[in-house]
Amino acid sequence: MTKPITVQCLDCGHTQSFDPLHTQCEQCNSEWLTALYNYEELATTLPAVLPRRAFNLWRYHELLPVASAHPDISMGEGGTPLLHLERLGMMLKMPHIYFKDERQNPTSSFKDRQAAVTIAVLKEAGLTEMVVASTGNVAIAYAAYTARAGIKLWAFLASSVPAEKTREVAIYGAQVIKVTGTYDQTKHVAAEFARQRGLYLDKGARSLPTVESMKTLAYEISEQLTERIGAPGTGFPWRTPDWFVQSVSGALGPLGVYKAYSELQEMGFVARPPKMLLVQSEGCAPMARAWQQGQRVATPVQLPRTHIATLATGDPGRVYSMLFDSMKAHGGTITSVSDEEAFRAMHILAKMEGLSVEPATAVAIAGVINLARAGVLKPDDLIVINGTGHTMPIESHILGNRWVRNIDFPKHLTQKDREAPTDGLSTALENLASHEVPHIAIVDDHEPARILLRRVLQSLGEFTISEAANGAEAIELARKERPDLILLDLMMPETDGFQVIETLRSDPTTAHIPIIAVTAKTLTPQERRRLSGQIEKLMPKGEFLTDELLDEIRALLG
Ligand SMILES: *Cc1c(COP(=O)(O)O)cnc(C)c1O
Ligand SMILES: [Zn+2]
Repeated sequence: MTKPITVQCLDCGHTQSFDPLHTQCEQCNSEWLTALYNYEELATTLPAVLPRRAFNLWRYHELLPVASAHPDISMGEGGTPLLHLERLGMMLKMPHIYFKDERQNPTSSFKDRQAAVTIAVLKEAGLTEMVVASTGNVAIAYAAYTARAGIKLWAFLASSVPAEKTREVAIYGAQVIKVTGTYDQTKHVAAEFARQRGLYLDKGARSLPTVESMKTLAYEISEQLTERIGAPGTGFPWRTPDWFVQSVSGALGPLGVYKAYSELQEMGFVARPPKMLLVQSEGCAPMARAWQQGQRVATPVQLPRTHIATLATGDPGRVYSMLFDSMKAHGGTITSVSDEEAFRAMHILAKMEGLSVEPATAVAIAGVINLARAGVLKPDDLIVINGTGHTMPIESHILGNRWVRNIDFPKHLTQKDREAPTDGLSTALENLASHEVPHIAIVDDHEPARILLRRVLQSLGEFTISEAANGAEAIELARKERPDLILLDLMMPETDGFQVIETLRSDPTTAHIPIIAVTAKTLTPQERRRLSGQIEKLMPKGEFLTDELLDEIRALLG
């Protein structure tokens, strides 16, 4: 079922095959890779198959780095409505404004595209634990999809992220770490943590599945516009809007949209990409400022001053330069609006169109209002606004207050500190790491049983979990890692659980490790005698998920 995908290095042009866990160019170590598909073939096959497919983002699976055509973690992401904003259009005398309603994704923002595709890819690669840094919505989306996939998530959030959003991350069972510092500092802490523990880190635009996922937004928009108003007189089957409008933080969305249109062009579906109207929050507008000054490199904003935490990327890095080049070629502009303008736009959209959006989304609406009045947007322009998200708070009394950990980012930073973590930070990260976290080994030859148990344990509290799929692996794991507890299936082919117990008990380095044995069948008196005095507890497999087992585990781990 694997689909071989070629990736190309944006720096040296080297091509290699896609491996989600190997995120650098083999030749020059660059992290900037892009995916290539068989566009020539897809140009003829896609038009035939698309009309028969459900309207969600997996309808474009041939253009995504996943093996499965419909991954089992799916919750119906993508396929959001394209709504005509008639009353706003009347107010602005611009009758062709559309709102891509990304609020209608499973966790209420367009980050579900990124999370769904990334988690599908990582689950296919067998990953069980990962790290993400976020201004809120990415962590919420990843928390939901990792819960579904049975992947443990460490979510690093800047302290400016509203409590409602932080709680929303926690309800899915993610480990939440709040960093007292800016979002850029939070990313740095998360990266250091991932490096120390050897965990997969979502690196935003440098993580290939993230950019790929955002393409689906553009495919959908063009398909929807084509269905609604056709593509008359263009000579191409699909319609491109005149403008794609989005509020931007790291600008992953626009990057994906550009990639999508270059592919649609390559396949002969459209003539060109849309012009981009990117809108930032005035208190954190490094891209808008650089654009207005004609600079290809943005000067980072050290201390964002905005209430709109979602948009608080102070250092857009290389993404801005990439956008700069595309926008110089295809048109568009980057502007900024004040928090007050965004809040006013929020009211306008809710009261005139019945759409309640979060302030970050309203930033885009405010940008459209300003640029319509300034005459940059023309009355006949076909405009599509990315309706990025809706705030959905989890009520504060549901979680209690023991779900968050804090890291204080050192206040006075030298340049050196910014590049390499300070001693204080290193220690804080080590304390977060697994030293005192109980380590449980799950031994079962049946993979779904291991996954289920892992998920139950992860939902109970914080454990480091290792897995072994047979007796020989179990013995090796016990000797090497010395877990605090082993959950051992007795009935396995070749080296069975009985032999594992005997081997571990006769080795002084593993003799003391508590074992809970699990069995699917009733044991014979002889088998019972073999176990007597050797294990802490025998559990029938059917009763695996009882409170009794959970209490037993807690007791054994002290
Ligand atoms: C992430 C996000 C943005 C900014 O998106 P980027 O393309 O990453 O800059 C805007 N609005 C909302 C609601 C978001 O979650
Ligand atoms: Zn390279």
